[in-house]
Amino acid sequence: DSETQREAVLDALDNVAERLAEEKEYLTDLDSAIGDADHGANMERGFGKAADKREEFAEMEPNEVVKNVGTTLISNVGGASGPLYGGSIMFASQEFEEGITVETSVAFAEAYLDKVKDRGGAQVGAKTMVDALVPAVHTYKKSIEQDDLPPLEALAKAVDAAERGVAFTVPIKAMKGRASFLDWRSVGHQDPGATSTLFILEELLATAEE
Ligand code: ADP
Ligand code: MG
Ligand code: MG
Repeated sequence: DSETQREAVLDALDNVAERLAEEKEYLTDLDSAIGDADHGANMERGFGKAADKREEFAEMEPNEVVKNVGTTLISNVGGASGPLYGGSIMFASQEFEEGITVETSVAFAEAYLDKVKDRGGAQVGAKTMVDALVPAVHTYKKSIEQDDLPPLEALAKAVDAAERGVAFTVPIKAMKGRASFLDWRSVGHQDPGATSTLFILEELLATAEE
């Protein structure tokens, strides 16, 4: 029911916020190599603020909680990642209006990816979070819809795909965002946003496994 779903969302949010706080320095190091060294702080602050709203969220429908996480990110995280993460979570939360199920989770993932691509204008290969997201979302959808895998296995495969996507960002040249200002000097560095996307997916999986 909707209470169980809300609790699951809140547990996921706590795990994500905790993980991003743990990874703050690492994400900042990645962003200092090819950006402005704020990605760790941005992610920690944004998801931390959202996780702090547990009491406000206590009476909300699960889709409203997810939407509110998005708006919290938009208002607390500037730069590229705030609107991309926040706006896309907010937009995709519509898919949960009728509840959170395996089917609506696929729709959520697709809507989220579409919004990130739409807003940021990045395709695969531009060295952004899209490089982690595209393989993850496609793998998740295919695993559920074509291969009939149980959702946990589908999510685990999506995490593996995201991991390969993150590795793929290392040797390529940034075409979008701050890192693109470096031109060829961005080559050889791992993209911070793809990395935070992987961490979030890993925590969604860990939460689902609990
Ligand atoms: P900023 O670059 O404004 O300081 P962050 O450091 O928080 O913001 O986030 C940087 C990350 O945002 C990058 O590593 C990249 O993954 C992602 N990003 C930047 N621009 C785009 C874009 N146009 N499309 C998709 N992702 C992007
Ligand atoms: Mg930055
Ligand atoms: Mg910045």
